[in-house]
Amino acid sequence: MSTQVILPRILQIGENASQDIPVVMANLGCKRPLIITDKMMVKLGYAAAIQQRLAAHDIQAEVFDETVPEPTVASIQAGVAKARNGDYDCIIALGGGSPIDSAKAIAILAKHGGEMRDYRFPRIVVESGLPIIAVPTTAGTGSEVTRVTIIADEKTDEKMLCVGIGFMPVAALIDFSLTLSLPARITADTGIDALTHAMEAYVSKKASLYSDSQALEAMRLIAPNLRRAYHDGADKAAREAMMLGSTLAGVAFSNASVALVHGMSRPIGAHFHVPHGLSNAMLLPTVTEYSIPTAAARYADCARAMGVASAQDSIDVANDKLLAELRALNDELQVPTPAQFGIDRQHFFDQLQVMAEQALASGSPNNNPRVPSAEEIIELYKQLW
Ligand code: NAD
Repeated sequence: MSTQVILPRILQIGENASQDIPVVMANLGCKRPLIITDKMMVKLGYAAAIQQRLAAHDIQAEVFDETVPEPTVASIQAGVAKARNGDYDCIIALGGGSPIDSAKAIAILAKHGGEMRDYRFPRIVVESGLPIIAVPTTAGTGSEVTRVTIIADEKTDEKMLCVGIGFMPVAALIDFSLTLSLPARITADTGIDALTHAMEAYVSKKASLYSDSQALEAMRLIAPNLRRAYHDGADKAAREAMMLGSTLAGVAFSNASVALVHGMSRPIGAHFHVPHGLSNAMLLPTVTEYSIPTAAARYADCARAMGVASAQDSIDVANDKLLAELRALNDELQVPTPAQFGIDRQHFFDQLQVMAEQALASGSPNNNPRVPSAEEIIELYKQLW
């Protein structure tokens, strides 16, 4: 059996890679970009830095900075109108996963019309939108190298998973220096998100030798550096490892899919407005413990790649160490429980049935080594509480 791998055409990787944007645009033959970003990127001067670099090459870039964290259908409308009415030949998506996902949705809707709902999974989006050059500033979602965008429907409280080559950026500039400004909390949440991508890609039923090699390397890069980046945001070596690890984890899961953690995480995010990385972090130990019996050897490989178990450890010992590490990581990175996050207990329990149905409908739980029923998902949510 063969595996199809989909990647951007250009990856520009390393310190200050974002400054090479004129070269990347020249390689792509693009001259009229729209920068899609958020207000924080404007405040930090990242949007202006890109504009200045381009201006030096006689390229004027307009900025749309109205994207919001965890984008919704309503939040992208103004961007769709701007992209549709302007004479742009590409989009520069600058920011964390939220601006990049917003840009991916805007790029397709501006060119092909319709509603975001029309593009959600199980439809596979093969149309091409405006070409996207992604510049990630978190490490991270990996959205710069994935054929995925996630847009919430505020009417149904559903995070819609949209998938297909149409959402793959044509280029990504992977510049860890942009992550030096990340506060500790976001470093932790986005870093555990990346670790979850790597682990889920590795245990996914759709894993291949290709995705395995990316996922294992991602775990090797992320696991020893997440605490370092969290405690000392200026640690360049840790930031560099986290950034590349996040991108490799994105490559791994974009080609092997995510699994149960992500399936259960999106409904928590949609109903209770928990940031994506944080809801993943809350779920990772519980879901890993549930899944280990069906893929014990695979999870033991994760423990070894993460450096918490040795080659001499038995599979059981390695998995005990893996669970201990995931719990210790959440403690050290101060990941709150749902209650500590401020979620109302009654509200949480009232939503369990809907959340379980939405988790299953996303398709992600089917990729898990151990596929749960709706009742088991409800049980796992209860354990999480
Ligand atoms: P985010 O983009 O929502 O950013 C979180 C916060 O951090 C924002 O306030 C932002 O302004 C700020 N921020 C970002 N970079 C910064 C920097 N360098 N310095 C200081 N502040 C910075 O966070 P995220 O976790 O990167 O993205 C989450 C979104 O990505 C969710 O909507 C999630 O569903 C989606 N996601 C997409 C994929 C995919 O493949 N498309 C994968 C995983 C998650």
